[in-house]
Amino acid sequence: MTMTVAATFLCACTDREETPDRDSFVYSVDQFADLQILRYRVPGFEDLSLNQKKLIYYLSEAALQGRDILFDQNNKYNLTIRKLLESVYLTYTGKKTSSDYQAFEVYLKRVWFSNGIHHHYGSEKFVPGFSEAFLKGELAKVDLPAMGIEGGLEEVIREIFPVIFDPAVMAKRVNQEDGVDLVLTSACNYYEGVTQQEAEAFYSKLKDPADPTPVSYGLNSRLVKEDGVIKEKVWKVGGLYSAALEKVVYWLEQAESVAENEAQQAVIRKLIDYYRTGDLRTFDEYSILWVKDLDSRIDFINGFTETYGDPLGMKASWESIVNFKDLEATKRTELISENAQWFEDHSPVDKRFKKEEVKGVTAKVITAAILGGDLYPATAIGINLPNSNWIRSVHGSKSVTIENITDAYNKAALGNGFMEEFVVDENTLELIKRYGDVTGNLHTDLHECLGHGSGKLLPGVDPDALKAYGATIEETRADLFGLYYMADQKLLELGLLTDEEAYKAEYYSFLMNGLITQLVRIEPGSDIEESHMRNRQLIARWVYEKGKKERVVEFIRKNDKTYIRVNDYQRLRSLFGELLGEIQRIKSTGDLEAARELVETYAVKVDPVLYKEILERYKKLNLAPYKGFINPVYEAVTNEEGEITDIKVSYEEGFSEQMLRYGRDYSHLPLINP
Ligand code: ZN
Repeated sequence: MTMTVAATFLCACTDREETPDRDSFVYSVDQFADLQILRYRVPGFEDLSLNQKKLIYYLSEAALQGRDILFDQNNKYNLTIRKLLESVYLTYTGKKTSSDYQAFEVYLKRVWFSNGIHHHYGSEKFVPGFSEAFLKGELAKVDLPAMGIEGGLEEVIREIFPVIFDPAVMAKRVNQEDGVDLVLTSACNYYEGVTQQEAEAFYSKLKDPADPTPVSYGLNSRLVKEDGVIKEKVWKVGGLYSAALEKVVYWLEQAESVAENEAQQAVIRKLIDYYRTGDLRTFDEYSILWVKDLDSRIDFINGFTETYGDPLGMKASWESIVNFKDLEATKRTELISENAQWFEDHSPVDKRFKKEEVKGVTAKVITAAILGGDLYPATAIGINLPNSNWIRSVHGSKSVTIENITDAYNKAALGNGFMEEFVVDENTLELIKRYGDVTGNLHTDLHECLGHGSGKLLPGVDPDALKAYGATIEETRADLFGLYYMADQKLLELGLLTDEEAYKAEYYSFLMNGLITQLVRIEPGSDIEESHMRNRQLIARWVYEKGKKERVVEFIRKNDKTYIRVNDYQRLRSLFGELLGEIQRIKSTGDLEAARELVETYAVKVDPVLYKEILERYKKLNLAPYKGFINPVYEAVTNEEGEITDIKVSYEEGFSEQMLRYGRDYSHLPLINP
């Protein structure tokens, strides 16, 4: 399956010249394993009307109520394991300096962060650093039957311990390895008792190739085999995950009562209808209403949305974000959108694959007010929805750039030494310091506003034709569209860039990331699996190889260290254009073989020698390669009659505090959801 979220964030790429914020806001909250916890602020919230604040408050509650759904989707034992760990954490009376306890705390924090026992990004299971004996000893003090574990400690040791401790059991949440049964070898909870072949056959039978408006088959259900019969268990009120979805619906109803206008009210009402029926036609109707709601200041995503967590790319994880428009910064993306047709007409792809008429590419810059489900704590910085291909081509899509999140990344990265270590020379570093922020935001805008909305499928091409390679190809396409235009005079004409050298900051950062620095996110001995990482390496490796003879991009050695040097930026641009043409052809014609060939050749393998060097250099900086965010806390202020008179936002809560509170206040599902 296809479109969307750009998690293009690794770049710690902004060590700016001006002095850091003089205020005392602390962006970095905690750091452990390979993770750094940041805090974001919500500028402008205080200036909203009381009604708007209430709307955000209600939608925020709806955003937090679905948290347990994601835990269960990621793995069927996640809720049990989280509950066990939290009960140990809350009752522990031993020495907190012991190495077992310290490793235990890190493990629990990782489970919180990843919404389960697998890495949020690489999807491999992380192994605890504490002993089985330690956990056994601590669990012996917990009243397990009271938690709903009838068989007590024995049952936990028999069923849960291998899931926690044995690296071979449920080793990957999403397996993308070529040539094996992806369903059976993935530990996510989207299929039970069915093989990949059975799942694919089940859905291809439902699909009618002649249907111009197909629903997103399989999007909101688990596929199971019971008594030899394969069927869907739908996630809806009265179905699977009902207890959590009832709460989501309750808060959506509150939100509906304070909606800004009728269009927004209709969106919320339709979403409630969808949660109640689980009907995918209703979901499409909701998506169309949502795309067309352009006048509201406040907006949100709440539902089963992105399909990265399913090896077959059909089943969507639950996520939510509530946000409001940043009116000033939105002028920038509006300018891009107004010129969407020009960009489409001038793109370096075959005319047959271009849209004659680009519809409804709307774009805005937003301020996130709350993150939930699969957007929490790790989040995207740009989002483009809906994912349904036919809705996108008939009704358009909405695209957002989340500026307060990007801003928090940038502020937290000030002066951390990363760019100094990996950028090849002073001049390039200077360029990145001067233009890195602007070009980084602009690339995200182009990726989201134009990239995903560009191009078209030839008639009769199955949107899922690229199968497991679909997501990587789609992200590659969107990134290339942005990269190609970064260096275009048009951006100067539009006033989006002020210097014709500025684009080089993004070109360099992108290549450095795709060729070397993103490697710090890979586990030793592993391939690259995540689609955005694959996409970046695909692009970087491809242009490197194609430009090798002309030395467009080079690996050079300096002081025993490897660097990337770009010798010919203009030629680099034309290589981006060439690859974009090919990627668009693959997408438009559904050329699965070519997709497989490109991805497997350029996007998957890691150079072990380079990897070792980069990791050593990176370790010395003592940075965490992945970042996530804790939410602000919203509190309703009421008068004597119990009416809400204001909503206060505060930023004092710590990471563990927030996770424990969410576990206490927003946990409604049984430990196991069969
Ligand atoms: Zn994207």
